[in-house]
Amino acid sequence: MPDPAEIIVFAAEPLDRASGARTDPEWLATRLADPASLIIPLYRGDPLIREGKAAFLAADARREFDAGATVVFLGLKGPRAYFAIDASGAPGPGQAPFADLGAYTPLREAAGALSGEDIAVIGAARWLIDWHRRHAHCAHCGAKTEMKDGGARRLCQQCGTEHFPRTDPVAIVLAVHDDACLLARGPRFPPGFLSALAGFVEACETPEACAVRELKEEAGVALTNVRYQFSQPWPFPSSLMMGFIADAKDKELKLDEKEIVEARWMSRDEIRRLLAGERREDVRLPPRFTIARRLIERWAAD
Ligand SMILES: [Zn+2]
Repeated sequence: MPDPAEIIVFAAEPLDRASGARTDPEWLATRLADPASLIIPLYRGDPLIREGKAAFLAADARREFDAGATVVFLGLKGPRAYFAIDASGAPGPGQAPFADLGAYTPLREAAGALSGEDIAVIGAARWLIDWHRRHAHCAHCGAKTEMKDGGARRLCQQCGTEHFPRTDPVAIVLAVHDDACLLARGPRFPPGFLSALAGFVEACETPEACAVRELKEEAGVALTNVRYQFSQPWPFPSSLMMGFIADAKDKELKLDEKEIVEARWMSRDEIRRLLAGERREDVRLPPRFTIARRLIERWAAD
């Protein structure tokens, strides 16, 4: 089995997060001042891309951005430190600093084009910058919070409560029965854009229980033998997708039409033909950078 980090977009772990060293503000300041350090700018979460690659700039380039722009530490590769900076203070992506070098590119578009290492670094950058933007105040007392540890933590100045980057667990499950798998789409997607079913894990719930509940609620399908496969961090804005394959008791469907507007069982042969490049008007598999696609591929290869 290949290492999932090699095949799942956002899941590569190219940097050492330096979780001990980053708690020292002096160490961080030295890294930021180091001419070898690099910084990637993002405009509203979309990275600057130049000639098909992430446009990492010398860390000194941060002087071209607003003085108050959020800067986060992402990690080390060897002796070189990586940072990200929020360019969202500009009136538009075309006016943001260094836009003339390339283009601030929608992350979903970049996800299909960049190397696994670059996209993982950028995913972490977007995740952190977005979290800092939305957590300026303490959820406990409402006072202002301050960034710590290069962006890995926030601390309330009033009550001392610590806040950590939010991660929302999601169970995504490919239900299978008699050599067929269940694909479906919600109302947000155009006809034919089918995928595995997914839902957010609720309070005090395991992802396995969530998978069973979601399939029951949304498709009326009873699952057994729920088998964990692999996971994918999904920075839109902060989901951790946990992928499962599970056996459905039968093929009967009872759709919750608010959640699912189209669902169908597809044979392994149909799926294999689609994966091999067959074009169909009525079915589009999820894009390659999604965990849903990886689940379908894994099942089809069995
Ligand atoms: Zn507080």
